[in-house]
Amino acid sequence: MKNHARTCCYCDSEVPRDAVGLNRKLFEKNSRQNQFMCLSCMALVLECTCEDLEAKIEEFKADGCRMFS
Ligand SMILES: [Zn+2]
Repeated sequence: MKNHARTCCYCDSEVPRDAVGLNRKLFEKNSRQNQFMCLSCMALVLECTCEDLEAKIEEFKADGCRMFS
């Protein structure tokens, strides 16, 4: 499957590449069914802030996770 731009399954806004990786990490089941969330919707679901999620992405990147390279 091509790695084209994903859209949020809740609000239809574009899900950036990094956020797709985070979806794969945190919501493996959903992402396998091609359901991705943008950071704002993910923050609502997880009851945290977008900043928390961005920090998480940086953490995974620092871990050298290949999903984010
Ligand atoms: Zn959304």
